[in-house]
Amino acid sequence: MSQFARCTTSKYKFGAHISTAGGISKSVTNAFNVGCNSFAMFLKSPRRWVSPDFSQEEIDQFKKNCKELGYNALTDVLPHGQYFINLANPEKEKAEKSYASFLDDLQRCEQLGIGLYNFHPGSSLKADHEEQLRQLATYINKAHGQTKFVKVVLENMAGTGSLVGSDLKDLHKVIELIEDKTRIGVCVDTCHAFAAGYDISTESAFDAFWADFDHTVGFKYLSAIHLNDSKAPLAANRDLHEKLGEGFLGLEVFRLVAKAEFLRGIPIILETPQPKDEGYGDEIKLLEWLENYVSAEHEQEFQTKCESLQETGAKSRSEQLAKFDKKTAKKTAKKPTKAPAKRARSSVDGDITKQLGSKKVKPAVE
Ligand SMILES: [Zn+2]
Ligand SMILES: [Zn+2]
Repeated sequence: MSQFARCTTSKYKFGAHISTAGGISKSVTNAFNVGCNSFAMFLKSPRRWVSPDFSQEEIDQFKKNCKELGYNALTDVLPHGQYFINLANPEKEKAEKSYASFLDDLQRCEQLGIGLYNFHPGSSLKADHEEQLRQLATYINKAHGQTKFVKVVLENMAGTGSLVGSDLKDLHKVIELIEDKTRIGVCVDTCHAFAAGYDISTESAFDAFWADFDHTVGFKYLSAIHLNDSKAPLAANRDLHEKLGEGFLGLEVFRLVAKAEFLRGIPIILETPQPKDEGYGDEIKLLEWLENYVSAEHEQEFQTKCESLQETGAKSRSEQLAKFDKKTAKKTAKKPTKAPAKRARSSVDGDITKQLGSKKVKPAVE
């Protein structure tokens, strides 16, 4: 038996982005072995356009593993799309190439009986943003017509401006244009939200964010959470995931997540930088501890844990803060009259848009 027994009493589907080494069916056993109540994985190489089809044997084995290990593929599995898919790309040829891979992913989901599919909504690059949001929605509608049941889940992003989904309003605008609203949803990545300028690090800020989310997007579309701390500070527009409690968010937000009733029943997926899946096993146990932690009794224990994790991440945070300050100072020197944004958004241009148009090496999971 694994050292990370799966918790059957948790009210939450805490899980992680799991390796598929050895085949797609192995993701189920890998998830089980680190105690996941839900899991994510890539359906094909995240860095290559084309991958071999699944064999019927692999498809059968995936379904068998899900059944035996107690995962409902319709609700507990949230594959992640390839990073370079950009359905909002104004260049027709590139958008079509993205669509082919996107549709192929959705078809793979349906072969495996998977009900949810998360992807990055892309970038309008230098074109008209509203027009490209319409293009993105048109592609999703088309894909709905070519598939049967899988729900398309849009992930919020960490950048600014042209990067679709950095602003929650983008997600609302796309959803408005979707014909079958039962097959569209949103995944909130905690690191991306924070890096995009949505402060969620304290209880009041966390509550205000979710009120904003409900008002702008609507809770009924909330389909999943990506649970990550942030290596970069608030509004840095950097997509840099950190282990829980070690980054600029700190452990408090994860305690709030593990207490939030509205997050029960949806996949809550860790994408923290873990060299091995076992690291997720520890973080899932940490989340289960937070879920069951009673404030009065364990307050001291909680504070000690917060401090020790912050200590572990201290060096990395100070390095990132220095980079952020340098970048902000440069921008301010260039544009001294720029008015501050309404919320804590930075005028520093994110590096993510650039990545969509380049071959820059990216972290394991975003
Ligand atoms: Zn992502
Ligand atoms: Zn994510």
